[in-house]
Amino acid sequence: MTQVEQLEISTQLPSPKGVALAVLELSQRENVTLGEIARVVQTDPALSGRLIKLANTATRIARPVVSVQEAVVRQGMTTVRQLALGFSLLDQYRSGACVAFDYQFYWSHSLLMGLTMQALGERVRVAAADEMFICGLLAQVGQLALATAYPDEYNTVLTDYRAEGIQTLGAHERIHLETDHTELGNVLMSDWGIPKAFTNPIAQYEDEIPPSYPHDSRSTSFTLMLRLSHRLADLGLAEADQRPRLAKEWISLATELDIPLEASGIFIDEVIASWRDWGALLHIPTASLPPFTELTQRKNPSSNQESSLRILVADANALTRHRIMSLLVEEGGHFVYPADNGNTALALAMEVLPHVIIAHINLPRLNGSDLCQALRATDEGQRMHIVLMADDNEESHRTDAYEVGADSYAPSTISAIGLRARLHPAQRLVQLQNAWSKDRAQLRQTAAELAVANRRLANAALTDLLTGLPNRRSAIDLLAQAWSAATRSGLPLSVMVIDIDHFKQVNDTFGHASGDIVLREAAHSLRASARREDSVCRIGGEEFLVICPGTDLKAAMLSAERLRACLETKQILIGHTEKTVTASIGVAVHEVGTTDIDALVSAADKALYQAKKDGRNQVCASNA
Ligand code: GH3
Ligand code: MG
Ligand code: MG
Repeated sequence: MTQVEQLEISTQLPSPKGVALAVLELSQRENVTLGEIARVVQTDPALSGRLIKLANTATRIARPVVSVQEAVVRQGMTTVRQLALGFSLLDQYRSGACVAFDYQFYWSHSLLMGLTMQALGERVRVAAADEMFICGLLAQVGQLALATAYPDEYNTVLTDYRAEGIQTLGAHERIHLETDHTELGNVLMSDWGIPKAFTNPIAQYEDEIPPSYPHDSRSTSFTLMLRLSHRLADLGLAEADQRPRLAKEWISLATELDIPLEASGIFIDEVIASWRDWGALLHIPTASLPPFTELTQRKNPSSNQESSLRILVADANALTRHRIMSLLVEEGGHFVYPADNGNTALALAMEVLPHVIIAHINLPRLNGSDLCQALRATDEGQRMHIVLMADDNEESHRTDAYEVGADSYAPSTISAIGLRARLHPAQRLVQLQNAWSKDRAQLRQTAAELAVANRRLANAALTDLLTGLPNRRSAIDLLAQAWSAATRSGLPLSVMVIDIDHFKQVNDTFGHASGDIVLREAAHSLRASARREDSVCRIGGEEFLVICPGTDLKAAMLSAERLRACLETKQILIGHTEKTVTASIGVAVHEVGTTDIDALVSAADKALYQAKKDGRNQVCASNA
């Protein structure tokens, strides 16, 4: 009997309890319904909450899930039982007897692995994203199992491993315990019903050799995803000075899953954010990381003065494509977009407008030469720097490349140095373009500022500073416009001339400054009580002109009476005393006999004089 078999019997290994165990057992029964599962889950509020949250994290587009039933239905039985299992382990094994084993760190790392797997699962569709979560969460469960089953021995293992630092953790485990966390984890996961399609890659991903599956297969993707998740978890828990290096390695590895640099940034930021979110919910410590852009900024000090380029890499051969992509990302921190055929490359080029296109001559669906010619036929394509690649360094390829309009030729085995040399002209061009557009932007900015300044000046010239009303000059323009509109339309036009009564006394009693306050308040009162379509202008010291388009004398008289009455009741505060003022108003209408604007205003003036004579604080109509 092997050590593992002994352990399985001895129940020293981590195992789910309570509701999780019930869910596990129930789901193994035939013809159990989702409703029954949901009812069991519901008895554990913590589990219920977490399942609902996870269902909502995984499907951002759909309507949010609010009930356990819905969460269970959406996630399916398999996922629910696995999640129940994961959360149950987490709750039970937050601490333990193995001194050198950091239980908190373990769960924090595992949680970030799980969330990364889930997020990757949404990009690379190999299985349901929630199943990915549990695979990531439990990928290292063998370590927890060893720490739980052999606390003292595992303490020695970890101490030796950290002191020595040459052999792998697995090697140290095997020396002391005749098994390792990979083997033990695999047994446990199989026991918990996690399918072989997942447990096999989990057993392999830690070996840094290429996985033993054909390239591009599901298992290869899955293995890569596990590596990416593990490394992102390392990154999340690393010391600050280690992060830039780890981030760089991560991006380079991510290109193998065809995740371009730009997407990597958003991806990492989002995963870290959800890690913090979940950490708070599950009471697991997490770290706060600076945004990805900051992480990678100091990545390559030598390339500081060089600008990052958008580069499209089109090659049907995944190995070459990934090699070129990681060279570009590692060397220059460029933004790389992959394409595996000519048609995709063309569509992508038109969408992202790359600075540089590196395309293999022998592309499926649209070969490199045709792609080049198609691009050169467009305005955008003419500005792109195109490098054509072929698998050998023959002179004929070089001439072919130039003939179809490429800027440069490169063998597909090109080195990092060679690649940098090819990008140099593109970089110069981009720098020139950047400088040029910066100048243009500055010019535009200046022009905009001038336009604003001009408009302000123009406004200032037409506005009375004290009251904010149109001034005398503006009043003349407005009246001229209203006059010609009335002449054209045949509609009536009325004007009022308003003069505040005994205003000199206000100045004499309270001083000129207080007089200004009264003027301003009176002006506001007039503007507020006039109709919206009327123009209220200040044409002199305490004199105002109101232009009322489309208004006959009767309506204008009513309107004037309203203005007068409102002003009369307005309490104006001067220091601590309240003051009211009144005004006299003369009204005139543009009639058949009215010859011009001056005649109209002077008719109103005459009426005003009459109002003053009749005792002030009243409205008088022109009798013309
Ligand atoms: P009434 O019109 O009822 O006959 O008497 P009044 O006191 O208003 O007479 P008048 O039109 O002769 O006086 C207007 C006064 O308004 C004269 C001037 O000192 C004052 N005034 C003119 N412009 C301003 C101004 O901008 N601010 C202040 N505080 N006073 C002004
Ligand atoms: Mg006056
Ligand atoms: Mg007056």
